[in-house]
Amino acid sequence: MIVTSGLTKRYGQVLAVDDVGLDVREGDIYGFLGANGSGKTTTVRMLLGLVLATSGDIELLGRPMPRQAAAVLPRVGALVEGPAAYGHLSGRANLTLIDAAGAGAPRRSRRARVDDALEQVGLGQVAGRKVRAYSLGMRQRLGLAAALLRRPSLLVLDEPTNGLDPQGISEVRELLLGLHGRGTTVFLSSHLLAEVEQLCTRVGVLDRGRLVLQDQLATLQQPTGRTVVRTPDAAAAHALLDGRVERLSGDRLVVARIEPAELNRRLVAAGLRITELGPERRTLEQVVLAATTDSPVVSP
Ligand code: ATP
Repeated sequence: MIVTSGLTKRYGQVLAVDDVGLDVREGDIYGFLGANGSGKTTTVRMLLGLVLATSGDIELLGRPMPRQAAAVLPRVGALVEGPAAYGHLSGRANLTLIDAAGAGAPRRSRRARVDDALEQVGLGQVAGRKVRAYSLGMRQRLGLAAALLRRPSLLVLDEPTNGLDPQGISEVRELLLGLHGRGTTVFLSSHLLAEVEQLCTRVGVLDRGRLVLQDQLATLQQPTGRTVVRTPDAAAAHALLDGRVERLSGDRLVVARIEPAELNRRLVAAGLRITELGPERRTLEQVVLAATTDSPVVSP
């Protein structure tokens, strides 16, 4: 859906994006992670033809960008740098203005398309209210509704939950999961690890303009082969497991070189109490920290 090779953008002395090779596949919810200033927005803008690359190639939906922008962009929904809307007009009126693609279509089908987009983002009830009375979350959702007007097969979103409260973030997440369930491929940039961890199937990490990691989330979070045990009898467990405990902190032990089932049997046979036992997996934060040199990517 999105393939770039050698994608590079230089602003004078600043190398904002450096030799990036994105590979976003059909059906992905792709999380494009990076600290502030790492080059995410510049990359997104290049993908959409809003900024010209210094060098490198971009393919969107199998076609070269920006050369075939006129053919490609009608099939792509985009939300970049916050939604713009007229405050003195209603949400519905704003979308009707944006819906230029439907200019030739009968009025009734245009209205249906606008209402459908408003309904999808949960703004159906307030569609007639002036946008100046909308909360930030509602404005963000109006921006998403605008991106959905053309029923796109690919959504490209730059920090779609920026400035939203936890309720708004979870609403946007549910919306994106719903769209994904109905066949839309989603590419979103974010600096929030937790957001990407909960939502995405595939992850790319930008570090000072360079793509330092790109893989399926499930692959990145594969079991490490060690087992995590939580027990109020941590000291006794440590003594019992003699040399297999790699880490002990509080009631938590990380145990190597023993199958979880066998480990469980031994602990129970020794009369130790277990509150939790399972395979160790790396968190996305650990994966990102390992891939970036001094990553200021934040985890809320
Ligand atoms: P944020 O999360 O803060 O939006 P980002 O990852 O989106 O950050 P970019 O906005 O793409 O990062 O910026 C990458 C680098 O390019 C930064 O050093 C920035 O100062 C620089 N940059 C971006 N746009 C321009 C521009 N128009 N002129 C000069 N430098 C720019």
